[in-house]
Amino acid sequence: MAELEIRDLRVSRDGKEILKGVNLKTGPGEVHAIMGPNGSGKSTLAYTLLAHPKYEVTGGDILLDGSSILGTSADERARKGLFLGFQYPTEVSGVGFSHFLRTSYNSLSKALQGQDREVFITVREFQKYLKDNLRQVGLKDEFLARYLNEGFSGGEKKRSEVLQMAVLKPRISILDEPDSGLDIDSVQAVAGAISEVSASDSTVVVITHYARILKFLKKLDRVHVFAGGRILKSGSAGLADELDERGYDWVLEGAKQE
Ligand code: ADP
Ligand code: MG
Repeated sequence: MAELEIRDLRVSRDGKEILKGVNLKTGPGEVHAIMGPNGSGKSTLAYTLLAHPKYEVTGGDILLDGSSILGTSADERARKGLFLGFQYPTEVSGVGFSHFLRTSYNSLSKALQGQDREVFITVREFQKYLKDNLRQVGLKDEFLARYLNEGFSGGEKKRSEVLQMAVLKPRISILDEPDSGLDIDSVQAVAGAISEVSASDSTVVVITHYARILKFLKKLDRVHVFAGGRILKSGSAGLADELDERGYDWVLEGAKQE
């Protein structure tokens, strides 16, 4: 069970302030969507949550289960159960996909001791565990024999990120545009994986530009409109439909007048 709280977070990159006071709180098993125009700082928020060294926190705090995680490294945060699915996944030549997944899964299991997780000693055991997840995201077994994301198509890279989430079962997942560039079947598969992960008390924060993926989620607790480096409006799942119909401008206009 994990609780993430972002308090008045301010972040700069290369001296330019991008996040201008972000507030967000998520509870265990909740699914949140962050929707907003391009260039508004959504990826900056995602990177900052996982301690990307180029993003400087100049104010506010990030709390996990009530304790600040500012000043901790990306791998420490990962071991506490935070996960980031990248908008633009990197190809990592020389690192076998299957080996990467098993090593990550096992180290997370060791870090989250006593949370009903296994440690897979043999490759065979692990491959058995992987099979359902692979089917769910629509990747064939043969991908496991390749290097991490190397030569994967755009859509395959996205599925690979979501597969990592489904396999690792992190406590809190941040997915940065997991739906961009995917056909409708893949979007449904990705939404299915999100619903399954959140059903086991894991929190998922989906960053997206379009409401399309949200329609396929079994549950969606909160929708946040993000623009100009902050959250301008939050609401229930219905807000996503409203954004789909009316676009973002009315929220931006409303915020200007406040
Ligand atoms: P989003 O994910 O919502 O599209 P990003 O977080 O990627 O937005 O970018 C937010 C803003 O930060 C953009 O206006 C982008 O141009 C700016 N930005 C990104 N990197 C730098 C940088 N190195 N220096 C200055 N501005 C940057
Ligand atoms: Mg982005």
